[in-house]
Amino acid sequence: MIATLYKPGFISDHFTVAEIACRCCGSYNRAAAHVLCQELEKVRLVSGPIVIISGHRCLASNTRIGGAKQSLHMQTMAVDIQVMADSQRFRLVQQFVQCGWLGIGVGNRMVHADLRHMVFLNPPAVMWAYPHEE
Ligand SMILES: [Zn+2]
Ligand SMILES: [Zn+2]
Repeated sequence: MIATLYKPGFISDHFTVAEIACRCCGSYNRAAAHVLCQELEKVRLVSGPIVIISGHRCLASNTRIGGAKQSLHMQTMAVDIQVMADSQRFRLVQQFVQCGWLGIGVGNRMVHADLRHMVFLNPPAVMWAYPHEE
């Protein structure tokens, strides 16, 4: 059992298991979630509160949603953040990029961000718009 400094149900100061875990089955990778939430805390410092639409996805959930075959959501290394306005979308993309996230997907109602540089060796920085064809 790893000792935690966080409140019950929290993975970091502000992000909860409920926000990060798969919406269908509650699964997630514990070690990856810890890293993910630490990096999200850095973004939150500049962005303020953010709403996570999707964190970890199991294979079934990812397939159902139509996620990329190698989606980093399945490794708990990606999040989709809710976007309510064009100005907020711009700021979020800017803030994730500033904080070093190298995979950014831009949608009408969400921004995807992932930590591919922590999964792969020297991956290129990428940005796409939805719908995204793999
Ligand atoms: Zn699931
Ligand atoms: Zn995503």
